[in-house]
Amino acid sequence: MALTKQRLAREHRTLTAMVRIYCRREHGGGAELCAECRTLLDYAEGRLERCVFQEEKPTCAKCPVHCYAATQRERVKVIMRVAGPKMLWRHPILAARHMLDGFRPVPPLKKPKD
Ligand code: SF4
Ligand SMILES: [Zn+2]
Repeated sequence: MALTKQRLAREHRTLTAMVRIYCRREHGGGAELCAECRTLLDYAEGRLERCVFQEEKPTCAKCPVHCYAATQRERVKVIMRVAGPKMLWRHPILAARHMLDGFRPVPPLKKPKD
């Protein structure tokens, strides 16, 4: 995935780390994600690339748009619940940045990308 913008690239790293933790713990995933988690991460990457907020992106939990389909949104919530506490130990900087992102105000909406 070619997310070159700093904010989105960091969000992508955080998301990937959380899915990896979850997959290893729940599905016995190793270096490669299981098919289910790979599909979900691909989906989330697509949402991230098209996020209407781009570099000003708030956390998805605070987002008024909620661009995820209901099923995928529920899956990501479960992943966050399971992997979130482990992120503090395994990826403390990403976890801290994600926490700080939670305090970002939600910016006014921009025109969506095609
Ligand atoms: S839920 Fe909101 S913040 Fe998250 S990717 Fe979609 S539009 Fe962006
Ligand atoms: Zn998995």
